[in-house]
Amino acid sequence: MKPITKSSKLANVCYDIRGPVLAAAKKMEEEGHRVIKLNIGNPLPFGFEAPEEIVVDVIRNMRDASGYTDSLGLFAPRKSIMHYCQEKGIQGVTVEDIFLGNGVSELIVMAMQGLLNNGDQVLVPMPDYPLWTAAVSLSGGLPVHYLCDEANEWYPDLNDIRSKVTSNTKAIVVINPNNPTGALYPKEILEGILEIAREHGLIVFADEIYDKVLFDGNKHISLASLADDVLCITMNGLSKNYRACGYRAGWMVVSGDKRHAKDYIEGLNMLASMRLCANVPGQMAIQTALGGYQSINDLIGPNGRLTRQRDLAWKMLTEIPGVTCVKPKGALYLFPKLDPKMYPIKDDEQFMLELLKEEKVLLVQGSGFNWPHPDHFRVVFLPHENDLAEAIGRVARFLDHYRRR
Ligand code: PLP
Repeated sequence: MKPITKSSKLANVCYDIRGPVLAAAKKMEEEGHRVIKLNIGNPLPFGFEAPEEIVVDVIRNMRDASGYTDSLGLFAPRKSIMHYCQEKGIQGVTVEDIFLGNGVSELIVMAMQGLLNNGDQVLVPMPDYPLWTAAVSLSGGLPVHYLCDEANEWYPDLNDIRSKVTSNTKAIVVINPNNPTGALYPKEILEGILEIAREHGLIVFADEIYDKVLFDGNKHISLASLADDVLCITMNGLSKNYRACGYRAGWMVVSGDKRHAKDYIEGLNMLASMRLCANVPGQMAIQTALGGYQSINDLIGPNGRLTRQRDLAWKMLTEIPGVTCVKPKGALYLFPKLDPKMYPIKDDEQFMLELLKEEKVLLVQGSGFNWPHPDHFRVVFLPHENDLAEAIGRVARFLDHYRRR
């Protein structure tokens, strides 16, 4: 029989967070092993429940949520997002500039599908949240990775970005706070990126899904608040700030100079209407989430649960010989480096598989985030302190064995 093959559109698409190492972990679980999973930013299994008022609101509204809505989304949540933009200093946003989606994930794919022709280039950070690279490739585009510099707090290297702009470059992606590095970018870096975008007529995509998950009193600056003359598309949602990733509630906001982007915005509207609308119970949670008391603040304060877990994970990791790590200022992850002299790793996916087999800890290798060297891995610091200590203790033991081989 003729083989049924996947579409050639998927030939260059890679999404390793849910790749072969996860498949191996699942198999081990089926065989009866307990695997400690520090691989995805899914807060609920670690006891982080969505704020009560959001859950109550979704339950209360469920009966009214069974119909389609406008393809951009319901008016009330979009209005509350508009106010959120005003609070963050993003100018000139109306409800018509706000698209609700089934999580930011859907909107990332939609934004790329609507923009790219074959061979168009998009500047994507390295390391990145790999959906961005995957969505560019799926849409026929070419992801061109720019360096985030570990020696400089993982900030985007503006010279590297500048050197990679070509006549085919359409856009630049900025993930701030960053997954996987936990970096939070200062105003000068954001302004530098906008300057490059301005010079070359690029769209800026700002993925700000962790904008409230900030430690040590840090403040987040929305990239779009710094320019009203550059077309910016800002992505955000309930998945992380409100620990409600299963509600699949996200949004994107088009701001800045829209005059030259009418055609693209029309394309986005068409793609939004082709999928009819975002799930309605998720839409209904947005307004309640954005208003009033923000329970995330209890988790990120000086003695908050997330702060304590970040501190413990960072301390334990950096105490391991040959491991260094920039302390994250935001988000839910650490991205430690293994000294290549002490850990001469050739294939970091294989390395993670060995760790899984020996110590039953599941992490994601740096190359899963398009990091080009086999010397990093990502740790999710969502588990309780005792579970984190257990997991990192096992990583330390594995690395100790590795060094002695
Ligand atoms: N963007 C970043 C940087 C992420 O880390 C994630 C999920 O981990 C997403 C987007 C996807 O978010 P959503 O749950 O809204 O689809």
